Amino acid sequence: MMRAVFDEKKYCCGCSACFSVCPKNAIAMQEDTEGFVFPQINQKLCVDCGLCRKICNFQNRIAYSVDHQAYAAVTKDKFLLMKSSSGGIFATLAKEFIKSGGYVSGAVYDQKFRVQHIVSNSISDIYRMQGSKYVQSMSGTVFSQVRELLDAGEHVMFSGTPCQVDGLYGFLQKDYENLYTIDIVCHGVPSNQLFQKYLEFEEKKHGKIEVIKFRDKQYGWGTNGIIKFKNYKKKINSASSEYYYLFNEGSVFRDACYSCKYAGLDRPADITLGDYWGIEKTDFELLKTNHLDEKKGISLILSNSLKGSKLLELCQESICLYQSTPEKVSKYNHNLNVPSKMPENRSDTLEIANQSFDKISKIISGKMKKKKLSNLIKNIVPSKLKLLIKRKCK
Ligand SMILES: Cc1cc2nc3c(=O)[nH]c(=O)nc-3n(C[C@H](O)[C@H](O)[C@H](O)COP(=O)(O)OP(=O)(O)OC[C@H]3O[C@@H](n4cnc5c(N)ncnc54)[C@H](O)[C@@H]3O)c2cc1C
Ligand code: SF4
Ligand code: SF4
Ligand code: SF4
Repeated sequence: MMRAVFDEKKYCCGCSACFSVCPKNAIAMQEDTEGFVFPQINQKLCVDCGLCRKICNFQNRIAYSVDHQAYAAVTKDKFLLMKSSSGGIFATLAKEFIKSGGYVSGAVYDQKFRVQHIVSNSISDIYRMQGSKYVQSMSGTVFSQVRELLDAGEHVMFSGTPCQVDGLYGFLQKDYENLYTIDIVCHGVPSNQLFQKYLEFEEKKHGKIEVIKFRDKQYGWGTNGIIKFKNYKKKINSASSEYYYLFNEGSVFRDACYSCKYAGLDRPADITLGDYWGIEKTDFELLKTNHLDEKKGISLILSNSLKGSKLLELCQESICLYQSTPEKVSKYNHNLNVPSKMPENRSDTLEIANQSFDKISKIISGKMKKKKLSNLIKNIVPSKLKLLIKRKCK
């Protein structure tokens, strides 16, 4: 019988746990035409042991704890805060974890801006892990590396999308006291292939890209980023970047993201991190404290286990933590409630964008212009007036 690890694409998040666990190295992670990686079994090597399917937590998911402590939080380290997407909690936890002798795993860009997970005990790698990369991070061999470290008695803090965290648990198949996990609230992920095509499109116009950040705090806490070319800088958001537009519109995600099982308060990791969107409506009192600044970024934290509390204790001197509730922190955070909705034109959009960004650019240019206009109007309204409107709408 021909064995397959999954029946339909929507049942596979591409975490690579099956690839890492196969005792016969019979599984390879291969890109499909949309650019997403899926496990492919080499039937000649497969001995039909069934392990790959058994350990797949995405398909066999069980419920986790829903007994959370919820917080609004920000790091006290201004440098880390300005480099982070939200309140800089990841980098602060990671730094303390490494200082106490542990290893941290997270997503970085390689030299070609492909996104992948690494594990490291070097503080300089924390700076590379910082910042949201709106692309699927390849787990590669990192699960096996994490297991080797755990088996050697090292402490590891693994951070990634919730499906990656759950994938790691499935691969390990046992509880490790020395493993700590962080999952991020997750909107969905486009593929590395599509991202590469977008980068080529930009490079044709402006030359070699040196830096790309999807969230840049020089524009405040929001969804504005930057691409730095050798002699030019471009602000990127839904109005100026085709890729960003498609990401925010939710039309180029992996199939599984649209029925994501982690879009809720039932979380696999010890700690969940996200943007505390809507804090001015749900926790307005907290904004009066000196430490929480809407222009610089505020995190939501869910502490989901005893280990989560331990991680927060480790950082009690370096982060400002304010008690909230799961209901409040999730109220205006769409993906803590439901998965992103699949637009009807997803396959067509993906097909065209994968073929040519010039072509997709022409198709969405009208919608991007409308976005530009609404951004312009938003920027004209003085920030004090915006705050007043927000308070009135409370
Ligand atoms: C694809 C994606 C979608 C997101 N969607 C939402 C959302 O809908 N709502 C929300 O509140 N927050 C979302 N976030 C999370 C949010 O942007 C911040 O990353 C989070 O609040 C942590 O912020 P921070 O300031 O503590 O740390 P930061 O320094 O900003 O975050 C760094 C952490 O994010 C991890 N990371 C970065 N890119 C990836 C990636 N591609 N795959 C896996 N891990 C990655 C790093 O490993 C590191 O652990 C998303 C992040 C990503 C990557
Ligand atoms: S283990 Fe991960 S990569 Fe393998 S089938 Fe399951 S979800 Fe897909
Ligand atoms: S059934 Fe066993 S040998 Fe075959 S691919 Fe899956 S894990 Fe590998
Ligand atoms: S939306 Fe869900 S399935 Fe998609 S990357 Fe995020 S956690 Fe994984």
